[in-house]
Formats: sequence, C-alpha cells, structure tokens
Amino acid sequence: MAAFLRPGERQPGAFGVSFDADRGNAGTAVLHNPNARLALSDQRRRLPVFEHRREILYLVEHHAVTVIVGETGSGKTTQIPQYLLEAGWCASGRMVACTQPRRVAAMTVAARVAEETGGVLGREIGYAIRFEDVSTPDVTKIRFCTDGVLLREMLDDPLLTRYSVVMVDEAHERSMATDTLLGLLKKVLRRRPDLRLVISSATLEADKVAAFFDTATLRGKAAAAAGGLRRTPALLSVAGRCHDVQVHYLEQPAPDYVRAAVTAAADLHATGLPGDILMFLTGQDECEAAVRMLEEEARRGRRERASGLRLMPAALYAGLPAAAQLAALEPPPRGYRKVVAATNIAETSVTIPGVCYVIDCCYAKVKVYDPLSGMEALLAAPISRASAAQRAGRAGRTRPGHCLRLCTEAAFAELPAASVPEMQRAELAGTVLQLKALGVDNIMAFDWLAPPPAEAMVRALELLHALGALGDDARLTRPLGLRISELPLDPRLGAALLAAGRLGCAGDMATVAAMLCVQSVWFAGGGERRALEAAKEKFAVAEGDLVTYLNVWKAWEASGRSGRWAHRHLVNHRTMLRAADIRRQLLQHLWRLGIKPEEVEGSDDAPVRRALAAGLFHNAAQLAETTYESRDAAFAGTHVYRLLRSTGPGLPPRLRIGAASVLARTRPQWLVFYQVQLGAGGFHDMTDVAAIEPGWLPELAPHMFHYVRDAARG
Ligand code: ADP
Ligand code: MG
Repeated sequence: MAAFLRPGERQPGAFGVSFDADRGNAGTAVLHNPNARLALSDQRRRLPVFEHRREILYLVEHHAVTVIVGETGSGKTTQIPQYLLEAGWCASGRMVACTQPRRVAAMTVAARVAEETGGVLGREIGYAIRFEDVSTPDVTKIRFCTDGVLLREMLDDPLLTRYSVVMVDEAHERSMATDTLLGLLKKVLRRRPDLRLVISSATLEADKVAAFFDTATLRGKAAAAAGGLRRTPALLSVAGRCHDVQVHYLEQPAPDYVRAAVTAAADLHATGLPGDILMFLTGQDECEAAVRMLEEEARRGRRERASGLRLMPAALYAGLPAAAQLAALEPPPRGYRKVVAATNIAETSVTIPGVCYVIDCCYAKVKVYDPLSGMEALLAAPISRASAAQRAGRAGRTRPGHCLRLCTEAAFAELPAASVPEMQRAELAGTVLQLKALGVDNIMAFDWLAPPPAEAMVRALELLHALGALGDDARLTRPLGLRISELPLDPRLGAALLAAGRLGCAGDMATVAAMLCVQSVWFAGGGERRALEAAKEKFAVAEGDLVTYLNVWKAWEASGRSGRWAHRHLVNHRTMLRAADIRRQLLQHLWRLGIKPEEVEGSDDAPVRRALAAGLFHNAAQLAETTYESRDAAFAGTHVYRLLRSTGPGLPPRLRIGAASVLARTRPQWLVFYQVQLGAGGFHDMTDVAAIEPGWLPELAPHMFHYVRDAARG
C-alpha cells in the first residue's frame, strides 16, 4: 500500500496521516453543497464575487480592459456575465460573450446560468461550440462559447460588433486560441472604444496579461470618442472562500500512478469518512482503466461498514459524450461515494460539487511540438506547481479537504513553477491560417502575448504553402486558401476535403473528417478489451483506421442509424450521432462552396485515400526497418516507419503503428497518419492511419515532391 506523509510529519493511520479535521462530520449526513438547499438567488449572493459586484461594474464601465483574478469557484464565470446583463450591457441587441478554452465548460456553465436566471438554455442564455450552436439570434444575451468559436466569428465580423463586452475566461490556461484572441482583441479595442474586455483568471499571472494591454492605445478620434475611458487595465482580485487543504506526498515514488491512485481511493473509502474523491490522471485510457479497477474494488468491498457508503466510480475527460460528462458532475445518489477519474479538464474549468479529496498523479497530457522535425505529439509530462495548487484547491470547495500527490515531496519541489503557454509548444498552421484570413499578413510582427518560436512559425508557413493555402508571397490564396480557412477543420483535413471534391468523393471524405472531429467511435465504457478488439476487427481493413471509420459509418447508416446496431457492435451511438451532425454541417459548407458531396459507389476506397494523402502528405511515412535493433528487449522487433519528407538535422523521429490502430498487426509499406503520441522507448505512436500508394504523392503534393524523391533515394 502506498504511504502518504504530511510535510515534516509522520503519523499513523491509513495514509500515515489522520483526518481529524473531518471527524466531526463523520456521523452526519453527506451534504455536497452546503448552499444547495438555498434558493438560487441566495446561493448567488453567497459567492465571493458578489461583494465586488458594484466595483466590477464600475471598473468595466470606466476601463477598456478589466482583469479579474479569483480562485476557482468564486463565481467569476457564472456571475460576472449576469452582472453585466443586469447592468444593461445587453441593451439594444448587443450581447456579452464569455469564452472558455474547453467545450464542456462552455456547455455546463451556460446550463448553470440558464438555471440561475430561470430561463431555458438557448434562449436568453446560450452557448456555442464548434459544430453546435445553442443560441437564438436577437434573443440570446449572454453567449458562452469556446475561444475557438469566437475567433472563427471574427472571420465574418472582424470587430465583433454583436458584442458589447467580451469576457475572456480561464485566461491562465493560455490556450492557443485564447492567446490569439487576446492579441486580436487588442487591435479591435483600438477601433472600437465602446467595446469592453474582461479577462478573468484563476492565478496571479494576470499581471502579465494586464501589462500586455497597458499601452496608451487610444489616439486621435478614437480617444475623443472614448471620452474619459481609462487606458490602463483595471486589476481586481477577488478573495476566494476556500477551505484549508492539507497536502500529502508519497514516501516512495509510485511506479504505476494509476494503480497508486486507485489504491489511495480505496484506502480513503475504507476510512469511512464522507466526501467525494477526485483523481487527476492524464488521458481517456487511464481514466477508463481507473474506473474499471474501482468498479472491481466496489464489487469486492461491497459497502463500507462505518459510513454505509458504496463506491460510485465515474470518468471525466473531453472525449466523453456530453451526457456522460454531465453525469460525472452530478452529485451521487444517497448512499454512494463518487470517485471521479478526470483529466485536467477538472483542474479549473468545471465545478464538481462535493469533492473533499483530491488524488493527483502530477502529470498531464500536453502537446509538444518539435519545430525541427515538424512533429507535434501528445506527451504525458509533469505538471507545474501552479497547476498542482489548482488541483489541490478542488478539495477545499465545501469544507476542509485533503490532497494526495502521487510523488515525493522532493520530486514535487523540482517541478516547474508555471506551465508554458500552448502557443509556444504547439503546431501553428491553424492559427497562422486564421490570422492570414483576418488580414494579419506579417505573422512575425503580430503583437503576440507570448511569441511562438520563429522556427515553429516558419514550419507553419511552409506547411500552409505546401497545402496551397498560401502563395509564394505567403499571402492567402484565393479561392483555395480562403476556402480552407473557412472550413471549421484543421487545415490539413480542410485541404483533404477540398481535394476530395476534385476527386469525386467529398461525401466520403466528409464522413472521415467528421469521425476525426469526434473522439473514439468505439464504445469505451468499461467494456471488455477483447470484445472490443473483436468488434473492431469486423470493420477493420488493411487500408487502415480512416477507411475503417468509413466502413463503420456505412454500416451504421445501412442499419438506419440504429442504436441497437451500435450497441451490438460496441460502437458508441451518441458519438455516431454527433459525427452525423458534424458531417451534415460539413456538407452544408461544401454546398455553399459549390462542391457536390459525392460518395463513391461500391467498395473502392482509393479516391478517399488519395484525398487523405492530399491533406496529410506532410505525415506520409514509409516502413523503414522491419526490426529495430535495441538493447531493450521490449522494443526489439518493432516495425519502424520514417517520415518521407525531410526532417532537418538530428535524428529523424521513429514512428510505429500505435496499439489503438486497427493496423496494429498488419503493416502497409506506405501510409499517412493524422496524429502521433509520444510513447515508450521514444517512439512516436501513430493513430488514425491510412495506407497510400507512394506514386500519389508527387501528383497530389508537387510542392513536397522533391522531399519524397530524396527520401526514396536516401
Ligand atoms: P469560477 O468561475 O470563479 O471558478 P463559477 O462561476 O464557475 O466560479 O462557480 C461559482 C459557484 O457556482 C461554484 O462554487 C458552485 O457552487 C456553483 N456552481 C457552478 N456551476 C455549478 C453547477 N453546474 N452545479 C452546481 N453548482 C454550480
Ligand atoms: Mg470559471
């Protein structure tokens, strides 16, 4: 069993610590939100931001930019937009926008605010995420949306004239879209003295953001029009009302943090003390694995004697269908203790009421980008101490709590203080294309909140040029570049879709693109791994995952989109419905562009694979070595792929087909892939793979042809 140690102290008990702070509550009924029984209006008045209501409204009126810092749960997201509405900022048909880096946050927060205002979601209070707009023109006053959606709106309405106030929420997350949005909003403010910007953040790094806006931006006419508007951003700090959280560390490092987290949760449960448990893991697989192990615990442990509570495990990650995400947030039924295994989605953006214990693996999956090789991959990396503090804070929401960090105290001290903004560690093609479409031609000179590395920008320009989206002068090409930028897809998939239009298979390509926009179509909910493998095998083809998705789609369509069919084949019906909706929207885009969404008759999938190659040629790879020489027996015999394009100096990335791919056992000589994940042994594990013919590449991507020839020769 894992032993936990309070800093500088050694005590007996389940974790080597005592939970005295909670003893008094042990016998009482489990109350998840002490305010839950109050009328909603009383709940609102009890939130820390309420004391600052007048101040916030004053600052917003008199400053172009107001930065508000407050702990998670203090009421920033749900309350401030309502204050603005109540104060008249939504008069004369204008709206308040509130952006979120995460889809699930936009949805849940909108639902909560609609409930608080006594309205129906989608009327006065609405939300918009990619491919889903639940708002009503001329009726919606507060619109919660992802930062990406607001960026996209700027293509149609660059000055965001529909909005009187834009609240950029969760700014501390420094998502790529948030950073881009802030840079663009700085320009918009110069042209629109009537616009107000509210930036809210859970951490004090807000100083940096405030300094970014602290330039005397209003000159000449704009200054006159703005009257007495202050140019310096206002900075307001809202005191949180968080309870103490005791932090505990491991005495010895844990070799397997998923198992350690499950053991810790089971031990906590055995103490009989009330309160829900939130564990932070890095991804879908780990969350599902933890839930499976906890279900096993629950079966074995039956009912904990002292408290009479049963374990109720739930997973929470971004790829989960919306309904399942919401279920993980709801209080458990009476007599149950909820254990939520979450990714860092639960770090700041959503509120899970009733959590008293946090178990933190101290890792998160992050995007890392190597501008030299042009490879972006997901990697489980240690989090920053700032993130760890946020995670711990989730335990002190309703009463004093505990946080167990699954690392030693010494290891924790080595973690970086703050995380690197996504802009500086991710692939930039999508962002650069959007800026180009918005008329920002000199990307290097753009006023970045945190400038991305120059090599990353060059790589993005190269890729966009190779896709035909940018011309030799690095300007957006028309119509191709403009069209790609207008499609709500990654530029590579957008290019593939438009190529499919030329190849007469746009309908099929729209299917594949839609399936890539949703997370796994396979039913993940605690199912048997072997049964899932068997189910996959029924649709799997030697042409790879992307064609397999097409087969699943066609079979589901042929069944009349039957839920029973989906259930029988371990296909996630809800995910399929969402993919169907996305597909429908992509087809609408195509109609508007005058492209017929044709589907290929019969089973000839070559046109679709050609179209995929036309978008993903940057990720074309060839089987290089059949066996990989390694001293480590675990990796000997691995089939290694190499990228076809040049990857600059240094060791080229070693690719292999990931375990999740339907091709895990067969190996095409040539393929393109959509994503990679950095796995064990320094391999890049490819997922979403399609077999191609090498002869297609020079024809589909003449810009990169010389790379192909060189690689083939070398
Ligand atoms: P912040 O944005 O400062 O983190 P929020 O405005 O999201 O805070 O939440 C404020 C409070 O509203 C929370 O502490 C919680 O009590 C309540 N709340 C928010 N969302 C929900 C929800 N979906 N269900 C129940 N209570 C909620
Ligand atoms: Mg919030």
